[in-house]
Amino acid sequence: MWRSAFLALSTNRGVHHVATRSTLAKKVASRFIAGETLTTAIEAAREINRWGASVELDYLGESVLDERQAEEAAAAYLQILDAIAEAGVGSHVSLKPSQMGQELSDTLCEQNIESVVERAAGYGSFVWVDMESSPYTERTVELYKRLRARHENVGIALQAYLHRCKADLREIVSVGGTIRLCKGAYQEPAQVAFPEKRDVDRNYALLSEMLLTSGLFQALGTHDEKMIDHTVEFVKARDLSKEGFEFQMLYGVRRDLQEKLIQEGYNLRVYVPFGDQWYPYFMRRLAERPANLFFLMGNLAREAMPTR
Ligand SMILES: Cc1cc2nc3c(=O)[nH]c(=O)nc-3n(C[C@H](O)[C@H](O)[C@H](O)COP(=O)(O)OP(=O)(O)OC[C@H]3O[C@@H](n4cnc5c(N)ncnc54)[C@H](O)[C@@H]3O)c2cc1C
Repeated sequence: MWRSAFLALSTNRGVHHVATRSTLAKKVASRFIAGETLTTAIEAAREINRWGASVELDYLGESVLDERQAEEAAAAYLQILDAIAEAGVGSHVSLKPSQMGQELSDTLCEQNIESVVERAAGYGSFVWVDMESSPYTERTVELYKRLRARHENVGIALQAYLHRCKADLREIVSVGGTIRLCKGAYQEPAQVAFPEKRDVDRNYALLSEMLLTSGLFQALGTHDEKMIDHTVEFVKARDLSKEGFEFQMLYGVRRDLQEKLIQEGYNLRVYVPFGDQWYPYFMRRLAERPANLFFLMGNLAREAMPTR
């Protein structure tokens, strides 16, 4: 129930408005967000590189309903790629189609993303396309296939909670695409997604095996130790190379596990979001884990305590 409540709040514009002006909310969100500026994001990326992981920077923003804003978001990504190259940090970028104008027009969205992909190609870098809620899945998969036909340096997130995920995965692998497999972070009806966690986990394990044996470099985006152990065992049993894939995890989540994987010689990429549009992203992170709610409450309680 708490999951649905947080996911419903994540799209509430009134709460969004209030939360992004609250100093306390910003402080709590900073566990998951590497500040509001490109400078703080580059510093975070440098620090992550230092302990052995690579990065993908996400300039927060979604559901853009204005053409100019979508173009500005694409221009911001060009600047981010320039800054990554100038700073010499090991980082890709990750973006959301709805930030690039998908809700306005597929053509606009594709042009915006393609400009980022082309700039990234010039730097030998890579662009990840995040997957949003299910009304956009079909359009995003089709958009990805068109982009992938023209550029090699672009990957797409797929969500194992969706019934259609296996079919999408097969199709994208068949065109040589690169996938980040995650479980899925949105509120979805049972017609399109498995409602039970055990079914999502079962599907995730099955699909990760398909990716690992695809013969293409792929990514597994999860913090679930059971999924990670399954992958590690599968890779050992099949004598697969650790270089054929990477784990991906979110900034601020299971840092212990992140460091353990690095120590064991696995590739790890950390997804580092930044920017002032952090509210929906933060609410999805709260929805993922009840303990995050206690973390939030603890901060609220400390703030309410009289100071001496
Ligand atoms: C790199 C990356 C990119 C992603 N991109 C997308 C995307 O494009 N589209 C999309 O829908 N989803 C995306 N996600 C989110 C993903 O779909 C899940 O919602 C999220 O990763 C939680 O699932 P899990 O696999 O970690 O497993 P879960 O079973 O949810 O969690 C397993 C364990 O991980 C830890 N954990 C998980 N989430 C949190 C959290 N928020 N705070 C603290 N601990 C936590 C807990 O210890 C938990 O017990 C992405 C995730 C990653 C790692």
